[in-house]
Amino acid sequence: MRFQAARTRCESTYKYVLLADLEVERTEKPLSNNIDADFLTLPLTSVSDAAISTGTSLGASHVDVRIERTRTGLLALRDAKPETQSDETNFGIGVRVIVNGAWGFASSPDVSVDSARKLASTAVAMAKTSKPLSTEEISLVPEPVYANKSWVSAYEIDPFSVSDAEKKDRLASLSSKLLASSSVNHTSAHTMYVKEQKHYADSAGTSTTQQRVRVQTQIEAISIGAHGFESMRTLAQPAGYGWEWMENTIWNWDAEIDQLPTLLAEKVAAPSVEPGRYDLLIHPSNLWLTIHESIGHATELDRAIGYEANYAGTSFATPDKLGNLKYGSALMNVTGDRNTEHGLSTVGWDDEGVAAQRWDIVKDGVLVGYQLDRRIAARVNRDRSNGCAFADSPAHVPIQRMPNVSLQPNPSGPTLEKLIESVEDGIYILGDKSWSIDMQRYNFQFTGQQFHRIKNGKIVGQLKDVAYQATTTDFWGAMKTVGGPSTYVLGGAFNCGKAQPGQVAAVSHGCPAAVFDKINVLNTVAEAGK
Ligand SMILES: [Zn+2]
Repeated sequence: MRFQAARTRCESTYKYVLLADLEVERTEKPLSNNIDADFLTLPLTSVSDAAISTGTSLGASHVDVRIERTRTGLLALRDAKPETQSDETNFGIGVRVIVNGAWGFASSPDVSVDSARKLASTAVAMAKTSKPLSTEEISLVPEPVYANKSWVSAYEIDPFSVSDAEKKDRLASLSSKLLASSSVNHTSAHTMYVKEQKHYADSAGTSTTQQRVRVQTQIEAISIGAHGFESMRTLAQPAGYGWEWMENTIWNWDAEIDQLPTLLAEKVAAPSVEPGRYDLLIHPSNLWLTIHESIGHATELDRAIGYEANYAGTSFATPDKLGNLKYGSALMNVTGDRNTEHGLSTVGWDDEGVAAQRWDIVKDGVLVGYQLDRRIAARVNRDRSNGCAFADSPAHVPIQRMPNVSLQPNPSGPTLEKLIESVEDGIYILGDKSWSIDMQRYNFQFTGQQFHRIKNGKIVGQLKDVAYQATTTDFWGAMKTVGGPSTYVLGGAFNCGKAQPGQVAAVSHGCPAAVFDKINVLNTVAEAGK
């Protein structure tokens, strides 16, 4: 779904305001990607078979094997000149077993039949050793068997097939355009691109081989002067695309870069916000992060039952509230899924061989669902996992990780222009910046990149130093208008962290623009001085 084109000219000193008409209408090209031959020619089947047969012969009731290769590239420029570059590959095998209701796990960078046998016996020994210490009988909910399946994410150009020089030139040219403006003193630009290849097999007979690609690019313009320091960053989201993401055919990079110096100059000259209660029109480029922190993490069932707590806390949305917690207004409908095209959490099957699904998390404002893996599903007597197991490396065990968690648009909801017109006294917020939320995912505070003052349905100029603060249920309860499909954007993050040892996962959050009634707005400079 695409943005509606919308640019407003204002009578005041503000020349124009970018309202985010940067997604390009396009027809998806048919994709013919295959999994790379050099991954498929690895001895995937013989290695995983060796681990499974060794594990079961030593008494394991369940064995699963992941052979993974993840390549991550990073390129960073400062003032249009290269600053950092890296290209790392994480390759290896992880074998997980259940023996007498206890977990065992072992991993190695050595992907061979011999190594697989050794890892399976090490994992079985670990399960037997840890059994007397374990307080819980581990079991997994069943899942149909998927034999010899493969899946590739929707992308056109493998970013690793594009030369470093071409990637650098693209970032340098966008940075140079910014530096040509007198309102920009410095720029920073980075792009990160990932190709993840995964072969999964288990003792029930499932075997899947998958490949997915993602790209994240951010460019920031910085102004330094008598006013101090001010910055503004591109709104482009991380995306489940290949290098085609950096052409102007999906996201109009050049149009966004053309607008940024004026927007930054306006922000530098803008008044600091008067704290108080305002109606907030929140653009998807900001709202995705509020969804991530206050809904995404709060509805991880391992967190909600208190099993996951060390990294970022538990959740107020405990299972006794399922079906009765009023999470937000009746306009609030939130889904979890692992099958949205170009989604960062999108897969064919998860890291426990569970097929990608889509389900309701919040329906008409009420909490109705959680994110599950096979073990947590068994623990709360569910029949089936909804496919949220993920491990970021062959050296880590799969844990319950976030699917794409998205706020649904109102099918007959307003366009961005109509949403702006509907606000009498408010602030339009775009782009994410800093955030904080408590350990129960309840009290939060978010800032942003752009804050446009709306008076009587018109944008009258920017503000700065804005943060909005609320509790999760008050905030979502105050959602009074939900934008239509034309306002919907799939945003997200590359770097969601969870667990000990820490694991990183990429996740998408789609949402429309929406209006929230009388939300508390803080002045960040005044707050910092307290
Ligand atoms: Zn996160």
